[in-house]
Formats: sequence, C-alpha cells, structure tokens
Amino acid sequence: MNFDFGEAPLDSPRKFSAKLRKKNLAVWLLGLNFILLCTSFPVHTQTSILGFTPASAAHQAEIEVKFKAIPSPDEERRQHHIFTAEPHVAGSPRNNELARYIADQWRQEGLENVVIRRYDVYGSNPKFTSLEMVAPIHYRAILRELPVPGDPDLKNKSISSAWSGMSASGEVTAPLVYAHSGNPEDYELLRKQGIDVKGKVVLVRYSNPYSYRGFKALTAEREGAAALLIYSDPAEDGYKKGKVGPNGPWGPEYHIQRGAITYDFMVPGDPLTPGWASIPGAKRIPVDEAVSIPKIMALPLSWHDAKPLLANLDGPLAPDDWQGGLPLKYHLGGKRVHVHVKIEMDNTTQPYYVVEGRIRGAQLPDEWIVLGNHRDAWVFGGVDPSSGTASMMELTRALGKLAKSGMRPRRTVVVCSWDGEEVGLTGSTEWGEQFADELRKKAVAYINVDEATSGPNFHGQAVASLAPMLVETAHTLRDPSGKTLYEAWKESSTRERHESKQPEEVTDLNLADTRIGSGSDHTVFLNFVGMPVLGLGFEGPYGVYHSAYDDFFWMNHFGDPGYRYHTLMSQLWGVLALRLANADLLPFDFASYAANIRQFVNESSKSKNRWGQPPSAVLNGAEGAVQTGEARQLPPLTLKPVLDAIDDFEAAGKRLDDFATRALASGAIDPKLAAIINHGTMQVERNWLNPDGIPGRPWFKHILYGARFTYAHLELPGLTEAIEKQDWPTAQQQAEILRQALASNTKLLNQLNSALTSETGAGK
Ligand SMILES: [Zn+2]
Repeated sequence: MNFDFGEAPLDSPRKFSAKLRKKNLAVWLLGLNFILLCTSFPVHTQTSILGFTPASAAHQAEIEVKFKAIPSPDEERRQHHIFTAEPHVAGSPRNNELARYIADQWRQEGLENVVIRRYDVYGSNPKFTSLEMVAPIHYRAILRELPVPGDPDLKNKSISSAWSGMSASGEVTAPLVYAHSGNPEDYELLRKQGIDVKGKVVLVRYSNPYSYRGFKALTAEREGAAALLIYSDPAEDGYKKGKVGPNGPWGPEYHIQRGAITYDFMVPGDPLTPGWASIPGAKRIPVDEAVSIPKIMALPLSWHDAKPLLANLDGPLAPDDWQGGLPLKYHLGGKRVHVHVKIEMDNTTQPYYVVEGRIRGAQLPDEWIVLGNHRDAWVFGGVDPSSGTASMMELTRALGKLAKSGMRPRRTVVVCSWDGEEVGLTGSTEWGEQFADELRKKAVAYINVDEATSGPNFHGQAVASLAPMLVETAHTLRDPSGKTLYEAWKESSTRERHESKQPEEVTDLNLADTRIGSGSDHTVFLNFVGMPVLGLGFEGPYGVYHSAYDDFFWMNHFGDPGYRYHTLMSQLWGVLALRLANADLLPFDFASYAANIRQFVNESSKSKNRWGQPPSAVLNGAEGAVQTGEARQLPPLTLKPVLDAIDDFEAAGKRLDDFATRALASGAIDPKLAAIINHGTMQVERNWLNPDGIPGRPWFKHILYGARFTYAHLELPGLTEAIEKQDWPTAQQQAEILRQALASNTKLLNQLNSALTSETGAGK
C-alpha cells in the first residue's frame, strides 16, 4: 500500500507493555478495573446514532456491544501467525492455499455464497536478477536479506531475492549516475551539471515523504535511462531514524523494499484488460499497447548493496539535500562506476484468486456494504497486509457468530480477500470491473483495510459524506491506551500536524482525512465504480515495509505485541459496517461534502505547475474567477458558476439533513419512503463520475478524487491538472463538467427533500 514514513510516536506499544510488566500488582488492579469498565459500561452512552431512529439506535447499541465482545487478541495473533508463516506473493502456491483456507473458514463461520473467483492476468515473476559493479572495482550485489538473531522465519529458504514487480527484462552494462529521489527536478539538476542519463543506469533512493516507485520508473524511462536501481537509504527508514531490527522497528542493513513499478496511475489492474475483467477467456490487448507496463528494467537494493556503488562514484559532489545517511560523500557519478544489470522476468499469464463471501441482509439483501483486504504479500507480510487479514478474519468470525445468533444485518455485508494488490491493485480492480454495473445499483460503500497496524496512531480516511459517521463511531470504541478511539485519534493527529508544522487545528470536521489518493484496493471502487469509500489503519515507526523483516517477529516485538490494535481494528471495521448495514436512513452528510468540494475548488484555483510556480493566475475572491496575472485581460477561467453550484448543493444537503433528522427523531419512517431516500442518496457518489474519465486517463472517472503519478491525492484531478498546465480551454471544460455534476446532485437531493416533506410534513 501507499505508505508514509511516520515519525516515532511518544509511546510505542512495546514501551507501554514493558512498563506494564514492571509495575505488576498496581497494574494488575488497574487492569482489572479497566476490564470491569470495558465490560460493564459502554465507552460512550450513545443516545443517538447518525441515520437511526431512537429505537433502532438502542437496538443497534446492543448489537454493537455483542459484536465488540467477540474479537480477541489471542485469535488475532493465531490468525496472524497462519498468514505470516510463509512468504505468499501473488500467484504463489502458498497464497492460493491461503485463499482456500479463507474460504473454508468463512463457510464454517456461517458466511454465505463463499466463492473463489479466478482472474487470468499478465504475470510478472523473476526468473533471474543480477547486479554487478564491473569498474572501477568488482562487486557482486548479494540481493538477499540476511537473518537477524532471534527471528527464525528469516532462515526460510523460500524468501525471494530482490526484484521489482513489472520490471522489463534485459541486460545492460553502462555507467552509473546517482539521481537522488529520481523526480523530474532531480534530472533537471543533473542536466545543469552536464550529466546526461541516456543509456545509463540510474541509482535513486526511496523518498520521504513516500512517492510511488512507479513514478521513479516512468521518470527514468522518459529520461532514456537503461535501468533503475532504487535503494533504501538509512536516512529514510534505517538507523538514522532509530533502532533497527532485531532491536527496533527500523530497517536493518540488508532490508530490501520490494514493490511493483506498474504504471497503475494510468490504469490499474491487469495491464492487458484495461476497463474490463480478466475472467478466463477475456479479450486481451497486445503487450505493446498496454500503457501500464513499464519498458525499463528496475531492481530494489538494500543499503548494503548500494554502499559500494555510492562509495566509488566520481563526478561533482551531490548537493547537501541529496546527501544521505551513509558515512560517505555522495557524488553524482556518470563516468567511473560501470555496472552490469541483468533481469529476466516470466510474463506468462497466471491466475489470481479473489475470495468473496457475504452475510445476507435480512431486510434489504440488495443493498451491499463491501469490505476488503488484500492477501498477497511481498514476503511474509507482517504488517502489509497480514495485520489487515488477521483483523478481517476476526471480523468475519464475529459477523458470522452474530448472524447465527439471530442478529443478521438489515443490508448485505460482502467481504473480499483480494489478490495481486501489490502488483497493480489487480484482484480488486478486476472484481470491481466485473461487477461494476451491479455495484453501481447495489453498493452503499466500500471499507478498505490494507495495513491494519504498524503502531498505535489511527488514520481514518473517508469521502467527505461519510467522514461524520466515521468520527462519531470512533467515540464508541476503546483504544488500548484506555481513552476512547476518538480521543486517541485526536491526540495523535494533533501531534502529527504539530510535527509536520501544519497550522490547522484538529477539529471534528477535519479529523478524518478526506483527501484520497491511490495505492490500495479502494481505487477501483472510488474512481471507477463511483462508490463512497473509507480506509482504516493504525500506524507507527515502520522501517521494514515490503522486506522479509516485515513478519511475525516484527509485529510481536514492535508493531502490536499484544494484538490489541488488531482487535480494535476488527471492532471498528465491524461497527462501521454494521452501522451502514442497519441504518434507517444511510448516514451520508452532503452539506459536509459541499464544504469539502468548495475547499478543493479554492485550492485547485491556486495550484502551481509542476515546477512549483504559481500559474501566473490568482483567484479573484469576489468574482470567484481565475485571472492571468500580467495583463488585465478577460479571465481565461471563471469558477463562479461552480461556486454557485456548490452553494446550491450545500443548501439541498442541509435541507435533507434537517428533514432526515426530524423524520428519524419522530420515531418511525415508512419503509417505502426510506427506500426512496436511500436509493437516492446511494446515487450521489455515482453522479461524480464522468464516463469519459479525466483527461488522458479515461479509466479514472471520478471528478472529485484522483491520484498523481506518485499515488498522492489529487483533488478535482481534471480541473487541477488543466490549471497547472495553464490549459484554460480544458480547465473551463472540466469546470463545466463539475458544475453539471453538482447540479445533477442538487436536483436529486431536492427530489428527495420533496418526497420527505410531502410524506412526513417534515418541512412544515
Ligand atoms: Zn498492502
């Protein structure tokens, strides 16, 4: 998944449990107190729940208490051990065996319609990889991760060597150039120094903040480089950050960040079936027409293997901010060091398997809440993704138990174990493409959990219409620190914003992150199907991402030794699903959505071009128009109609919220009226889709949310990119598409408002 290198939290779970061991008796009593508190009283006596009548809220509260009591740390740990016992990369026999294991478990737990769906996709597996320095001295890169004391799993013979998913095959001997993070501006600097990378091998490092390695590959390919080596500098995720394995959570000398370089920011999923499902026998495009397959060779390196290369580079001294954490002076190179890179990939078609199960809704079986986590891991997948998989298994056990005891949700809960997320978000994309029409009719929302926990700091993402219900739900859960999840979330967010010098104060309105990029399995549901999405994860210091060291040992020593955050994740994920599944009126908040879109438009109008300069355009606040700076000519782009349309949408959203609140408070809602309202509000997200997609990337259809080629969030992608390019005709056209979508949704909400007022008199 997409992942930011977090700063160290104030109190890691490991330190916390070590403290606990020291103060045994006092803490035992305290602990007893805590257990009594948890079991006897709800965390937050909730008299109302968004979308529920008082009577349904009381019933829902009972269901949630029963549900939350089921997931246990021991079971989370047991499941985590099963999933992390062996490497299970996409397409491997072990990963397929785990698919069958999940299906068996789900059937036993009482899930219905459990099926394993097969997709035949363009394969990308290493047959042979090697890297040698051939001048000025000989060095053969080991491309392997050495065991550390205390962790028996690292002796496993089936741990792969270094490789990049979707690398091209080939062989080259060429001079080596150090290109810092491998971003376009890095190559600009090299050019200024007289260094051309055409035909050469470039050595770049993983960046902080995280930037998707596929962007580094595309940039190197565009620059004409022959091959790309990406290494983990200790300044990013190693000893410069803190203690390394086996003594701390940061990456040891030999850790290799594997990962795909797929251009899935163009189109995710199987590169040969863009926009349709790779079911067996599906039509396929020729490989040379596939825009998401890189044409460059790539290989990830540990700093152990990068160090001798860097130490021998000649040429100009690299700038200060290009220097890294190794005890040597980084040079730009280009002449003295020659390397030989050879990569052979196996690209034969291979099957990926998605496991799907459901708890059928008792009253509204054709309204679906979809939950998912990917199963495939680069190696053992301690955090990514098996922490999420363990949480999913405890979630399904609890849902199954509840259903067996007669507490079946009103709507259907669909649960999926995705495959090939790490290669190109592949399994979820193919499944989403296969069922897009049905999902557009039936789906309420998708809740993604990729990495459930690498530490104690909660990060919650939601489209703005569901952000209030996510924040509300956090009040009803207990964080292992003893606070409510809401309090813990607010504290860690405040701390993180302070550390990253963001001035904005944390409030209930901005606690949930409503800027959603790509990099995990929510992408197809948001950007292609048009479903509201939520994403959940607990984070902490984590320097072993996509390496063999991300395993059971790491989780038990650093990430979540007591499996309490895993347990909390199962509870949170389930309570959110059950609220969406049982609500009388779906808890969408469109006034919040409007406010968020207004913020996006204001930011978009001030966006800068790719060189970081403002586009010689300023937002004219009074008129809501963008004008060119130099001449007082006619504005090339006016955003006033869009801002007006946002006001209308906001007003309609507020009215709906008022009517719905009153209707719910009155105690009973006619089921037919509720069905009209819910089917209407489910369509709002679909209306943000433009069937033509955003300019240049037709697969990405959502006009509010998109991702940059780095996976970073990109709001109003079509409009923002056009403004950045100062392409005013396209910007105007994209603004008009946005205005029309806002107008459609305002009309839709006004129809629902009329239905509510005429049926209930709520408007009088
Ligand atoms: Zn992941």
